[in-house]
Amino acid sequence: MRKDRITVHYEEKPIYDIVFENSFDKLAEELQLLDSKNRKVCIVTETKVESLYLEQVMKIMKPVCKELICFVFPEGEASKNLDTVKDLYEKLIQYKFDRKDLLIALGGGVTGDLTGFAAATFLRGIDFIQIPTTLLSQVDSSIGGKTGVDFHAYKNMVGAFHMPKLVYINVNTLSTLPDREFNCGLGEIIKHGLIKSKNYLDFIKENREKIKNRVPEILKELIYGSCMIKKAVVERDPKEQGERAMLNFGHTLGHAIEKKMDFSMLHGECVALGSITALFISYQMGRITKEEYEENRKLIEWFDYPSLPDNIIPSELVEITKVDKKMENGYIKFIILKEIGEAEIVKTVTDDLMKEAVTCLIQDVSLS
Ligand code: NAD
Ligand code: MG
Repeated sequence: MRKDRITVHYEEKPIYDIVFENSFDKLAEELQLLDSKNRKVCIVTETKVESLYLEQVMKIMKPVCKELICFVFPEGEASKNLDTVKDLYEKLIQYKFDRKDLLIALGGGVTGDLTGFAAATFLRGIDFIQIPTTLLSQVDSSIGGKTGVDFHAYKNMVGAFHMPKLVYINVNTLSTLPDREFNCGLGEIIKHGLIKSKNYLDFIKENREKIKNRVPEILKELIYGSCMIKKAVVERDPKEQGERAMLNFGHTLGHAIEKKMDFSMLHGECVALGSITALFISYQMGRITKEEYEENRKLIEWFDYPSLPDNIIPSELVEITKVDKKMENGYIKFIILKEIGEAEIVKTVTDDLMKEAVTCLIQDVSLS
């Protein structure tokens, strides 16, 4: 089977391809398939990615676009807001972009979410392309059409569903990614294996050393496998009405950790720790064995996530989950594993069990 392209469908129709490459070289070819010669194109990126890749990408794209401009904003989540979107609209108006023109998101999830949202709303919707450059954006945020920005303190408060026309993944961009950012992507990748595919999880286990060393061919296969999982989920549930919620495995206590730590830990790091708590709860609820819990906890820990400070009070984290989540009869909806490779939503996870899961995460107590 060729592993360099995946087509994502919406309501049975092919909508966009995800392509897997080791360079930006094929971008010109892919763009021309989208009639770029007759369209103005704006590359949207942030300062850090600008310094690493913008020149190279512009050189390849210039000959195949009617006109090429770029919009650069300051790197980081703090830029993912309506002010930056407004600046982008202004630039597009200044350069007389119309409905047939094209935006390109070059960067991580922040760039992808912001550009996608601007594309969804400018002139009631124009086309955009994702060129994700972080592991997290390659396996998660660039696929599925969720776009948006933060509003004041509220994350992803304003947004739209808007599918890209293409997702172009140059796996080699990961060579410049800091370890912490790389591990954030792995947190979501391991989650994909836990909730959807034991085979994929076994692949991660067998190749953990090569993954850590970022061996390009293994990374390509890893990213391909994760994109296949995310694609299948978003195709079956494009608007997050059912199955897509399973992707929130590890996120309930993960989000609580993120908040409690005042966002000093990265999202993917918190999801990795949250996944350990969800594994613990799956074990305590009789879904997986003690050996399975320990083996998968070890796999997560192998990727060097920061540990939770031991002065964290478990009941405080549990309280935060309640502010975050919709309750049903006093219980939150919690995603656990039915078995390794399959998730389910349960509404019977008690506060005590969540507290125990956090305690176990902090102290790494041996299980009876
Ligand atoms: P990011 O875009 O901020 O990138 C993380 C850091 O890596 C930044 O400092 C960036 O400058 C740097 N960087 C990017 N590419 C690099 C490269 N190749 N080499 C070196 N450094 C590089 O964040 P992210 O982790 O990619 O994405 C997080 C965002 O994605 C959040 O805003 C989150 O809400 C969003 N998200 C969206 C979805 C969705 O479905 N739309 C899903 C998950 C997350
Ligand atoms: Mg996430």
